Amino acid sequence: MFENLTEKLQRAFKHLRGQGVLTEENIGEALREIRVALLEADVNLNVVKDLIEHIRAKAVGTEVMTALSPTEQVIKIVHDELLELLGKDTARFKFASRPPTVILMAGLQGSGKTTTSGKLAVWLKKGGHRPMLVSVDVYRPAAREQLKVVAKSTETRIYEGDTKGEAAGTALVERLAKEAKREAMIMGCDTLIVDTAGRLGIDEELMQEMERLKKLLDPQEILFVADSMTGQDAVNSAQDFHRRLSITGVVLTKMDGDARGGAALSIRHVTGQPIKFIGMGEKPDAFEPFHPDRITSRILGHGDMATLLEKAEGALDRKKSEEFAKKALLGDGFTLEDFRDQLKQIKKLGSMESILKMLPSVGPFAGLQQASKSVDEKQFVRLEAIINSMTKQERIKADMINGSRRKRIAAGAGVDVQDVNALLRQYSQMSKMFKQFGKGGMAKQMMRGGM
Ligand code: GDP
Repeated sequence: MFENLTEKLQRAFKHLRGQGVLTEENIGEALREIRVALLEADVNLNVVKDLIEHIRAKAVGTEVMTALSPTEQVIKIVHDELLELLGKDTARFKFASRPPTVILMAGLQGSGKTTTSGKLAVWLKKGGHRPMLVSVDVYRPAAREQLKVVAKSTETRIYEGDTKGEAAGTALVERLAKEAKREAMIMGCDTLIVDTAGRLGIDEELMQEMERLKKLLDPQEILFVADSMTGQDAVNSAQDFHRRLSITGVVLTKMDGDARGGAALSIRHVTGQPIKFIGMGEKPDAFEPFHPDRITSRILGHGDMATLLEKAEGALDRKKSEEFAKKALLGDGFTLEDFRDQLKQIKKLGSMESILKMLPSVGPFAGLQQASKSVDEKQFVRLEAIINSMTKQERIKADMINGSRRKRIAAGAGVDVQDVNALLRQYSQMSKMFKQFGKGGMAKQMMRGGM
């Protein structure tokens, strides 16, 4: 996300480099480039106009600060303005003082409502809540079926209700919604996520039904789920929904596929409502609260270390990592089993590309993001397959893997013998390195917490 915008902004800033002071002329030049970058990112025209004017006013009026170069000054101003545009603080999710908290999911068909309902349930569970799902899309049995599948895969409770013999219509929608709220209360679920019917476009019937649901359920949150790939269309429909329903926030989905980011940068300014979450993939955990400061940092190419660290914290098995460090660094024998464990941990963090994308694209990490494109994810799978096709004994005592064993392992993993050789070479280099490191005593000190 934002790749193109980041790249173009960098170019705009570059032109200011080497300028002694900020003048109307060089600021004007940079602003023209920033304007084009934002428009090409499909940011709403009014948003672009306001943003550029604010940046101009601040930049022209700026005293030349001795501590910052002109480029740094402009970057700082752009940073502050983007942050302001995105909402400064992370928007809070509102809970009812008396449970269940009701969350009404609104949006057009295909925007990702059902998928997001499941992701939200997973996120709530991580926070110690007990969510319940219900679909009131009585017009499309497949939609209700899809939520059932989502509930099953995320191990979330769902209220199915009985729809047999009753015509699809608002009366049935209301009955299901009411029953689900009661059921949530009885089952001790503190949050109820209501997946509603989506249409291909906004129509009066849909809006009326949403209004009735709002009245009936008195939800704490009405989240508008918008497909970021549809750019300004997403912004316009968010505005239409907000006018009728007073939404409390937006979930922007498919940010993993949206390299431009126009919807993200426009939707709050246009609707006045914050983005609360972003969807970054199809899987239930590809979902994050929206942090304006982190996103601003990503847009400016400064990476997002906070999210990366959180991910690592959640994905890595701390005990395993410590055990590994101890074994490897103290020279107690780093086996191929340890090697496989490490590969597994890296895989859990997500794709190499998604990890490296969170590193700054400027400064010492420059180029790494580009390099990430050439990292062959399949290589990890291949390495794991090779280790898997060894016997336990071989994994612990790699020395015993002779020529015929190598052939057998290669055949088992469906690779060439050269691949097995390469892996063993890599393993042997790593264990040598660990041993040397361990001998130096530095590792021992680190283990004892001496550093
Ligand atoms: P609904 O009609 O609004 O309920 O939309 P769905 O939840 O069925 O989602 C429509 C499609 O978008 C499905 O194929 C989802 O897997 C996909 N989808 C939803 N959210 C995301 C996301 O954040 N990233 C990606 N890549 N796909 C998503």
